[in-house]
Amino acid sequence: MTNSEDYQNRLFQILNNESFSAEFISGIAGDRIQDKEEKVLFEKLLSEAGDDLYVKLLFFITHEVFEKQNAVTLWNEIIDHKNKLSSLLNRNIEITVATLDYLSNIKKELSSPQLIGETFIGKIAELSSIDPLTKLYNRQHLKQFLDNEFIRYKRYKIPFSIVFIDIDKFKNVNDTLGHKAGDDILINVTKIITSDLRDLDICTRYGGDEFVLVLPHTNQSKAYEIAERIRKKVEIHSYKLSDITLSMGIACCPYHANTLETLMAEADNAVYISKEKGKNRTSMKKKLF
Ligand code: GH3
Ligand code: MG
Repeated sequence: MTNSEDYQNRLFQILNNESFSAEFISGIAGDRIQDKEEKVLFEKLLSEAGDDLYVKLLFFITHEVFEKQNAVTLWNEIIDHKNKLSSLLNRNIEITVATLDYLSNIKKELSSPQLIGETFIGKIAELSSIDPLTKLYNRQHLKQFLDNEFIRYKRYKIPFSIVFIDIDKFKNVNDTLGHKAGDDILINVTKIITSDLRDLDICTRYGGDEFVLVLPHTNQSKAYEIAERIRKKVEIHSYKLSDITLSMGIACCPYHANTLETLMAEADNAVYISKEKGKNRTSMKKKLF
């Protein structure tokens, strides 16, 4: 076993024994507000490990070992990068994404294959998948956001909602105006949707003319309000060549479902109902009890 392998194994063991989790790291990085216990834990780890803590943080995210001094500098640069990206894209960019983007695209630190690099390269491809047209996160990424949100729900019992959005008769737009005009409309609709979201809300491009919003700390009635505001804004916006409307479906955890699979299915079904009822509307299942 090489020295580096040995060190990696030791790190794995340490991380297994410590309270490291994606949640904990996201608190340290400022993705969300740390609770008191987490603050105490962070102070404890920092006093025990000193700058080694940053080696561990980076290892947890990247599965790569960085030298201690390099790790401290990198961590600070990554936080800087994260803040810049967040203000540029007008939403919070999570620490995992910021780290991978910084190390793979800017620093090019991760370009050479490492011991467990292959799985990691797959992870980067998945994590850094941003839709080139709208610059929104794509479907792969949605899973990560939902997992995080669900962890928070289980921990703090705070409801969250998802909104499925599908552009009405978009195929007609493409067929009559051409693909380029269709692309411009997708970009425009993205701008309208995201301009109305709050800092913690996330908009992803789920597929061709489909978007999914993740709305943390949001119950079903607030989600309905947000969705309707967006829908009306898109409806009244004057596009150069065509009228555009949206059909939306809402599902709230735990009101409608308390697993991610059923939550997605409820939202999907609610869009279907909006389409069935004549499009350009927002639907969600009403619970009878
Ligand atoms: P509905 O009201 O039922 O949603 O009908 P629709 O025509 O919107 O639905 P459908 O799913 O049949 O068509 C979606 C269309 O979106 C198909 C394709 O022409 C278009 N589309 C998908 N991705 C893109 C893209 O990246 N750019 C452009 N311009 N069009 C796209
Ligand atoms: Mg459509």
